[in-house]
Amino acid sequence: MSGRGVVTTASPATVSEVRQRNRSQALRSVILTGETSRAALARESGLSVASVTNLVSELISEGLIMEAGSVASSGGRPVTLLAPNPAGAYFLGADVGERGVAVELFDLSMTRIDREFRGGREGEKIEAIAADLDEALDALRSRNPAPWERMVGIGLGLPGIVESDADGRQMLYAQSLGWPPIPVVDLVSHDMAVWGENGAKTQAMAELWDGSARGVDEALVVLLGRGVGLAIVSRGELARGLTSSAGEWGHVKIVRNGRLCRCGGRGCVEAYLGADAILETWREAGGTFEGSGWRAIGELLESSDPLAVAVVDDLVATLGSALGGLVNLTNPERVVIGGWVGLRLMEGFASRIEAATRAEALVRPGGQFSLHACRFGGDTVALGAAMMPLEALIAEPRGSRSA
Ligand SMILES: [Zn+2]
Repeated sequence: MSGRGVVTTASPATVSEVRQRNRSQALRSVILTGETSRAALARESGLSVASVTNLVSELISEGLIMEAGSVASSGGRPVTLLAPNPAGAYFLGADVGERGVAVELFDLSMTRIDREFRGGREGEKIEAIAADLDEALDALRSRNPAPWERMVGIGLGLPGIVESDADGRQMLYAQSLGWPPIPVVDLVSHDMAVWGENGAKTQAMAELWDGSARGVDEALVVLLGRGVGLAIVSRGELARGLTSSAGEWGHVKIVRNGRLCRCGGRGCVEAYLGADAILETWREAGGTFEGSGWRAIGELLESSDPLAVAVVDDLVATLGSALGGLVNLTNPERVVIGGWVGLRLMEGFASRIEAATRAEALVRPGGQFSLHACRFGGDTVALGAAMMPLEALIAEPRGSRSA
């Protein structure tokens, strides 16, 4: 999905490369549509029905797709439906945060079949997060022994920058959390393939796959939670920059010498729009509330107290200003907002956020985007992380699982 490491050459693709590409496309289409037919796959790919029939036979023999009944066609002849075989392969996706981890188990139809959360402690250290992850995996494995036999691996949505070094090893740099740089594989002691990616980018992967950014070439997918993140979709792909950190909007300075941010800098977007910053602003304004999470943010957004209303007005204006700058920079067709704070904001203030953003952007780009909430809600980061093992399965060489 990312295009990472893809080297394009001028030489023509070999026959086996073309077959592999066709196979990947057919498998992806069956999983994404949930139900299709050989004729529909042929139409979609431009391949002959005979070629598609061959590919489908292979995928059925590998246990990845299955025939799922038939329906009458317009000509009266029954058409056999194809569907992903849910038990054909399994994937794990994890939303790794500073306060714990949510690990979700998906089957090949990308239906979530189990979920485990560990953590809840304030300001967890990286070792505690790794322990949470392993405990969550232990629990899921004990409840799901059969899926574990066909587990492709785990994708981690991580609170920091993920880069691959020269040997292809992924490293996590979570500066804002004060964690030391760590190889991504060291976060998981279970014996399985591990992929990592920045959580804002995995959120965007889910929305690109089948959510609010599906089929959109130019999009911004914003994550508003305790941290603030962003994925820039350009020409249908996640923009990465030189090594991967493109989209670190949370640490773009919007006030010179402004509020101290967790990254060590001052005046960052996150220092105004992160959950802790929002609640701190409310507290400074005289607000009183319990806790620091979902409930407190909900109380703020629903309050009719003039103090709270003023804080929310300012929040909407600041968000609009920060988004307006992004709209000018990237000229998106769509702006998608997710994360637990973002989703709460979109519930009650979508039209005001949209108006504030348009007002802060140039007239042309400001009039060319539409604003949407993330489709997948609070589970988007984990679902998107599971896209990494899913994509690995889809790209896997033909027949390599059938042995
Ligand atoms: Zn910062």
